[in-house]
Amino acid sequence: MRTIITTKTVLLITAVCVAGAAALQGADNAFKWRVHDMDRPLPTAVTPGDFCTHSAPSDATVLFAGSTTDNLVRFGTDQPILWKVEGDDLVVTPGSGDIATKDSFGDCQFHIEWMVPADRECKGQAGCNSGVFFFSQYEVQIVQGLDNRTYADGIAGSLYGQHPPMVNPCKAKGEWNAYDIIFRAPRFNVDGSVAHAATTTVLFNGIVVQDNTAILGSTAHGQRAKYAKHADRMPIKIQNHGDPLRFRNIWVRELGAQPVAQ
Ligand code: MG
Repeated sequence: MRTIITTKTVLLITAVCVAGAAALQGADNAFKWRVHDMDRPLPTAVTPGDFCTHSAPSDATVLFAGSTTDNLVRFGTDQPILWKVEGDDLVVTPGSGDIATKDSFGDCQFHIEWMVPADRECKGQAGCNSGVFFFSQYEVQIVQGLDNRTYADGIAGSLYGQHPPMVNPCKAKGEWNAYDIIFRAPRFNVDGSVAHAATTTVLFNGIVVQDNTAILGSTAHGQRAKYAKHADRMPIKIQNHGDPLRFRNIWVRELGAQPVAQ
């Protein structure tokens, strides 16, 4: 078959390409930078106001409130976790594996308080790292974010390897931080394609750092994230990166469907 390329056709193709590129870049800056690009601008440091702790509301599933860990399991098993309970804190035991919720969750509100010990040495991604993985695969990064230089898409409050936080309100080592996260799950078509990307809103020490941010796919290290169809509900994982971070007041609330304007 002979294809006739006219000036009009060339202009049309050019217009479509330019519009497509603009849509990608306009939607987000994520494609403008290499994954973990050290030249990507870091978010401005912001000093948060007074710390406000949040114990679980009455309709939450309590994951940790200072004693029982019955609603948590060793990731990928139904076995009790091997992290330590010290006073009101849950402490990562290096080498004991990730932990996860016993139940599965879809759309949810998630709260966690975390702290890097004051005497801990942090070097970029090493030494002071953890993270919350929704559906066991979409990470909101936890890492010491003050006085610890690393790449912008990997600092505290980032969607790891994808979106840096809008600002950096991380506290110093030895001080508590809090995340309040609203996670909306991705929706898939029957053929496995993405109908709606997952979205996340993150308040970091009371400050919005992710605002209904579209997630690009399952968290990956050093490569572009991609989606692979999965169940409507899956466990939430908390990462054991080999560093003895401390946690408290961990809870999750299920969310109904987002209201639609009538
Ligand atoms: Mg991490």
